[in-house]
Amino acid sequence: MNEFILTADIGGSKIRLALFDEALNILKLKITQTPRGPSPENIPRAIIESAGKMLREYLAKVKVFSIASMGPLDAKRGVIAKTPTVGAENIPLIKMLREWLDIDYYLLNDCNAAAYAEWWAARNEGVKSLVYITISSGIGGGVVVDNHLLIGKDGNAAEVGHIVVDPIGYMKCGCGGLGHWEAYCSGVNIVRYAARLSQDRIIENDNELSRLLEEEKLTPEEVYRLYYAGDRGAVALLDRTATFNAAGISSVITCYDPEVLVLGGAVVMNNYRYFQEKVFPLINNYLGVRAPRITNPQFGETSPLIGAALVAKHKLEDLLVKTS
Ligand SMILES: [Zn+2]
Repeated sequence: MNEFILTADIGGSKIRLALFDEALNILKLKITQTPRGPSPENIPRAIIESAGKMLREYLAKVKVFSIASMGPLDAKRGVIAKTPTVGAENIPLIKMLREWLDIDYYLLNDCNAAAYAEWWAARNEGVKSLVYITISSGIGGGVVVDNHLLIGKDGNAAEVGHIVVDPIGYMKCGCGGLGHWEAYCSGVNIVRYAARLSQDRIIENDNELSRLLEEEKLTPEEVYRLYYAGDRGAVALLDRTATFNAAGISSVITCYDPEVLVLGGAVVMNNYRYFQEKVFPLINNYLGVRAPRITNPQFGETSPLIGAALVAKHKLEDLLVKTS
């Protein structure tokens, strides 16, 4: 009998569910909104309802459920510890799912899953060590070193967005820490950083960026549009974030010495010219090891699902959730 692998990708705005066959073809895919609010039961309930509808006659054939989730996690206990964008904490994910369907469960960070998928795709070219970084509404990462996925004590290895790029700590991160890369350069926070620089008169008010800030109309997309148009405020801002991006990226490279750095996420993909012109040339100034090849992701939005399916297929023991 065929064994099917059920997977989920739990993100801040969407939950994706996919059913894979043994050859890792996606047989079914279902996308729902991530429920918001403080109740820790909302997300597990939404998954049970959505998976129940999607699986129907397949349900009895599913032997494993592998889940890639936003973090931070308490992975050994099968818990999502915090969800800054959703507002729930200590979500007893695997406990509730197991009450619904008593099978094997794997749980890992979504960026770790994406990294594993990218490494798997690159391994035929002899790639043994790969770092994946995504810069979008947040900044996340995943690392495979010597063909081994790094996990960490709670499943939060390579939460690279919380690397300190500014020890002065001018900006406070959503996690509470000071000077974190994500606090300056993520899609959400670049506007906050611009507002602080403008408020402190580090960016003058004689430009379009400051005018939009004053009208509370500045968006991440506008920041980059103004930069390409040569707006002085946007150039001053993105010159600064270029340094922070380069510091963050080179810190990650130096830690893990990868052959390949896969750089993705909406902020990168929509503004690749900026990264090529401003960020990549700075990386070498900071690097302590030989530079890797920088590439774009091979997989798009489905990469955490593919990574989760691979983890289950390869039976990565360290990611199996053993508690009830
Ligand atoms: Zn942080």
